Amino acid sequence: MNPTSQDLRELLADTKKQLEHLRALGVEGIRATTAAAPAPAIEVRHPVAPAPQPSPSIPVENNRSTLFGELAPAPVKLTRSNETFEQIHAEIGDCTRCPLHQERTHVVHTEGNRKARLMFVGEAPGADEDAQARPFVGRAGQLLTKIIEAIGLKREEVLIGNVNRCRPPGNRAPTAEEASMCKPFLLREIAVVQPEVIVVLGNTAMKNLLDTREGITRLRGMFQDYKGIKVMPTFHPAYLLRDPSKKRETWEDLKKVRDYLDSHRSDPC
Ligand code: URA
Repeated sequence: MNPTSQDLRELLADTKKQLEHLRALGVEGIRATTAAAPAPAIEVRHPVAPAPQPSPSIPVENNRSTLFGELAPAPVKLTRSNETFEQIHAEIGDCTRCPLHQERTHVVHTEGNRKARLMFVGEAPGADEDAQARPFVGRAGQLLTKIIEAIGLKREEVLIGNVNRCRPPGNRAPTAEEASMCKPFLLREIAVVQPEVIVVLGNTAMKNLLDTREGITRLRGMFQDYKGIKVMPTFHPAYLLRDPSKKRETWEDLKKVRDYLDSHRSDPC
């Protein structure tokens, strides 16, 4: 969409305001550069305070200066992968990379539509999933199927996976180390399918995909980003079984997902 002259007038007015603000802060000058790198197009010289340091949660290589001297993360886009799920699963094989293999019956792979617009990611298989070698087939899985149907989709139309593919003993959460061994395979599947939206179910899935320290209660219902893919954190269905009063919030979160998919319906799937 081309900017209108009204847009340009507003941009100019905003820029003027920002420059006045910078002058008030003591900035002496601004030098335009033709740097080869994509960022920054404009450098700010500041006589007093040193440039702010990057927040430790943002990797330095993803940062760039803005007109206002802040550091903002450069958008990282996921590159589409030509791998197949079969290749990824063959590489996982009879996995012994982490201690979870010792008590598992089956490795539980991601399943569903490999052209899905929507993906659900959970934590790790439970007893039913371990027995049947399929994700989300126990009680929590049956609730997940109902949630999927409530937004007008069939289970077969979406993709369903977990951060870890082997059942942790006693259904405990996988440790950070166990998750770090298994997660790369999930990320490779995401790069193959490139769903438009990923719903992360509960804290473990959310923290692993988003690399955040925030908890699910704070982030649920708010779209996040994973390399250009919309990510919606919501409660894990197992939690909803323990506390059904949280179903209302989950429904609100899923309606946002449904509305997003409905309003971005370009790819038939
Ligand atoms: N809980 C999960 O997180 N994943 C499953 O596959 C089943 C239950």
